[in-house]
Amino acid sequence: MSPNRSPFRLPYRLLALSAVSALAVVLPARADVPAPPLDPAISAALARVSAEQLRATDERLVAFGTRSTFSEKSRPGRGVFAARSYLAARFREIARSSGGRMTVALDSYLQTADPKKRIPRDVEISSVIATLKGDEPSTRTYVMSSHYDSRNSNNDDGEHDAPGADDNGSATSAVVEAARVLANLPLHATVVFACFDSEEQGLFGSAHYAKSLKDAHVDVEGDLNNDIVGASVGDDGVKRDDVVRIFSEALPPGTDPNRVNVIGGENDSPSRELARFAKETGDAYATGLHGVLIYRADRYLRGGDHESFNAQSFPAIRYVEPVENFNHQHQDVRVENGVQYGDLLQYVDFDYLAKVTRYNVASLATLALAPATPKVTMDTKALTNDTTLTWNSVTGAARYEILRRSTTDPTWTTVEVTVPDAKTANAPSPTQSVTLKYSKDNWLFGVRAVDAQGHRSPAGYPTPVR
Ligand SMILES: [Zn+2]
Repeated sequence: MSPNRSPFRLPYRLLALSAVSALAVVLPARADVPAPPLDPAISAALARVSAEQLRATDERLVAFGTRSTFSEKSRPGRGVFAARSYLAARFREIARSSGGRMTVALDSYLQTADPKKRIPRDVEISSVIATLKGDEPSTRTYVMSSHYDSRNSNNDDGEHDAPGADDNGSATSAVVEAARVLANLPLHATVVFACFDSEEQGLFGSAHYAKSLKDAHVDVEGDLNNDIVGASVGDDGVKRDDVVRIFSEALPPGTDPNRVNVIGGENDSPSRELARFAKETGDAYATGLHGVLIYRADRYLRGGDHESFNAQSFPAIRYVEPVENFNHQHQDVRVENGVQYGDLLQYVDFDYLAKVTRYNVASLATLALAPATPKVTMDTKALTNDTTLTWNSVTGAARYEILRRSTTDPTWTTVEVTVPDAKTANAPSPTQSVTLKYSKDNWLFGVRAVDAQGHRSPAGYPTPVR
């Protein structure tokens, strides 16, 4: 075995040695929170996810030679313009099975030269956006995203090959495939399938689109970003095709650190709750994968389009394969000292990519079918040894589950109590309140909304009010 260069490796060494210790590594010690009931319509969508379709899409993307932001003046059939036309055409074809609910558009703008931002000359940036409308009158929206641009060793090189099979042809194929299997599923919230341009130059496509959603006051309640999700074999040669990493930021921008320290809510940002939800839901469906939650925004020296959503205060998480091979990312295709460099199709495991796609679809469909996350407050007006939580009734909710965990637990451990929805129970007020005989000083609480079929929202973490 090669020496451990990353603290992440140790559990996987154990995983390879023993199936029993593997379970101990990835499952919480306590599991009082039952797995969600499986929706047959979601299971049917997962069953339609096809490794062959994913391979066909990724092969088409790689065949454009390069998808560099600066390859726009390339010959016909080559470069980023050809790739975006292909993606838009794929989504338009998929939209035909959506009963008129899916629309396809380019989110385009002219980025002017800024050498400090890896933009040596003016360039048109265009992201491909497919929007599947839900039946709610609200603007509640969930996004599944990838970037479709690629790069080689030179970030400005629009001429030479940059196949980008894994970074990020893998996730772009997953976004197209998720759109294909969900297009005819009736949903309550709106789902956006986004393939961003110019991630490699500095998240330009996603930053433009996330800001446009913010400016339009769209209620974006989550972005599931996928970037480098296709290789199951890491640079140590070990295959791990049953794991996906889930990164999430701690604190949204603008958070007052003094206040967070007093509240003790630094591990309960909306992005963290979305990550916990994604793991719980993805693990429950028969996806053949389990998620490993990583409580940081992204890997060292790397970033991704979820950060553009975080920058607009939208909850967002990033999926990424378990162990990366950096010889296959951001590299000219070449053999050096007997080592193959380059982001080539031969390193993508399409059965693994199909699992990651199913993992996404399980969460995305549940989010869009479940009620919205409740907005919860905690009464801190007086010194008491109990906890009073208050929230407004959420459209579509049949009941609310009050979740509890100790301040040192990473994930929710207990459904403390279930409260019927006030409107359902014919109560006079849509404002609901519950008092628990647990001290708010010693425990963490969350409230999630559940509909009559059992679809759960992510947990809402209470804001203290005096
Ligand atoms: Zn990438």
